Amino acid sequence: MKQNNPNMKKVVRTVYLHFPHLIPIVGIFACVLFIAAIVNYYMLREQVMSDGSASISQLERYIDTIADNLQVLELKVGEDCSAQDRLDLKSEVFNSELMKEVGLYNNGVVYCTSNEGQTKIRLFSSTLQRIQASENNITVTLRESKSRLQTIFIYVARDQRHGINALLPPQQFLDLVSPAFDKRMYRYQIKVMDQVIQSNFAETKIDRGESYHFSSNLYPFTISIFLSLDAYKQQYLAYLDKVILIALVLSLIYVLLRYQTLARLSIEYALLTAIKEEQIELYLQPIVDIRSRKLVGSEALVRWNHPVQGKMSPEQFIPLAEKLGAIDKITKYIFKEITRFLENNPAYLNENYISINISLHQIVETEFVRYLERYKEQYPDHVSRILLELTENVELTSEQLSIALANLKAIQDLGFDIAIDDFGTGYSGLNLVRMMKFNVVKIDQVFIKSLHTDSNIKPVLKSMIQLANDLEMKVIAEGVETESQIEQLQLLGVKYIQGFYYAKPIKPEELATFHQMTNEALDLSQPIPRWKS
Ligand code: C2E
Ligand code: CA
Ligand code: CA
Repeated sequence: MKQNNPNMKKVVRTVYLHFPHLIPIVGIFACVLFIAAIVNYYMLREQVMSDGSASISQLERYIDTIADNLQVLELKVGEDCSAQDRLDLKSEVFNSELMKEVGLYNNGVVYCTSNEGQTKIRLFSSTLQRIQASENNITVTLRESKSRLQTIFIYVARDQRHGINALLPPQQFLDLVSPAFDKRMYRYQIKVMDQVIQSNFAETKIDRGESYHFSSNLYPFTISIFLSLDAYKQQYLAYLDKVILIALVLSLIYVLLRYQTLARLSIEYALLTAIKEEQIELYLQPIVDIRSRKLVGSEALVRWNHPVQGKMSPEQFIPLAEKLGAIDKITKYIFKEITRFLENNPAYLNENYISINISLHQIVETEFVRYLERYKEQYPDHVSRILLELTENVELTSEQLSIALANLKAIQDLGFDIAIDDFGTGYSGLNLVRMMKFNVVKIDQVFIKSLHTDSNIKPVLKSMIQLANDLEMKVIAEGVETESQIEQLQLLGVKYIQGFYYAKPIKPEELATFHQMTNEALDLSQPIPRWKS
């Protein structure tokens, strides 16, 4: 018991937590069950209509069949009630499932029956009138014997005087239709000549429901059916499995649609759509030569405006794109956009470069090298103007590392420059730098930020710069925000600066204007123009 309690609590808690998600499904079930109840109500009424008329036709057909047989028999036997005649009558009764007795009449008197032979039983005058009045010379009557047993008589007239009749116990006759009614739990009543011969509701009160009446046009019998709650229940339960199946299918459709909507709202989905529909934007951040006070290049940085979450940092969505295998598409999009920029700004192309961030995953794929080969074929003039920035933010297996090194070499052979990005952070830096010759080193902004707070950082920066000089790599300091940082970096021998001090990442057309501004600022005693966005 003690062990059950925590489990019980867990179950209750799980149900409680998931209940809001279950509400729509509960709603679907409730709706389907309710609609099914309404459909059931109308369907049962239709069913009663068809069952009622079908039963009337069935009973009529049965009487007609008996009448046909009686007609044949009446023509076969003579009029003197001979032994052969009685035998013929008896064998007809013997072969019939329902008839108990057959009699021949003449001039209003039954003179010969299968059971008693010669008789002199007078027919009721009402019966004779009804035979005469009938359209097809056939009629049905109901008589009650002294022992109150009811009997149905079928009369078939040959002419005005002669005819044949048969006697049937009502129960068996009515059993032709009652099992089907009982199965549907109908309350019903069957009357012959206005006398009830079968009823299953007389004792019980008729439920407040509707009653349906059916009568034969040929013979004097009627059927009334009353729909009780039991009948509705019975039919409802008969279809319940199908109703539940429909509710389950609808719930499944709902869950799938909901899942799809959620997926649509997810960042992954939105990012893939944004990439496909080129909703991401290219920004360029200037890189400046401190001494010549000229723009030397810019770094391509992507921006994405998420439809719900607003502007998202590439630091969030670039790793996601890498995970989704979509980084290649972003890179190719950047290539396309910078190509357009370079084509539109030949002045920029002549003097400056553009750097593009490349994921290390892409370097392990030879597909990227093939892409650059094709790019070179198409835009040979751009190649020397493109710097590819690489961050060592993933660990590679030795096999991947050798592929990466071979690819980097191939890329350099094509004429592209390669920079090591975020130099000095994490595992970034020394490994790859030792293994191949990079063209540029980008010192990470954490070092620049701590320049004036941390006195130990200067020697570190110094040795990084020394290493770069030894390996003949250009140095770019990133994240420069203040004049004092520029001064200190200049003293350390850094030539190239990228940072908010000069400009934040800006739109390509703004960069073209910034380029023009720096070109026009010829007075070297004045500070380098800053872009205020
Ligand atoms: P990163 O390559 O190190 O880019 C420099 C980041 O520093 C940029 O952030 C830039 O806006 C920011 N920054 C530049 N100057 C300053 C400054 O003075 N102060 C401060 N606080 N920040 C400064 P951003 O644009 O948010 O990009 C973040 C990172 O996302 C990038 O770091 C890069 O790793 C990645 N990324 C951006 N665009 C791309 C792309 O097109 N492809 C790939 N693979 N990665 C990209
Ligand atoms: Ca970068
Ligand atoms: Ca960087």
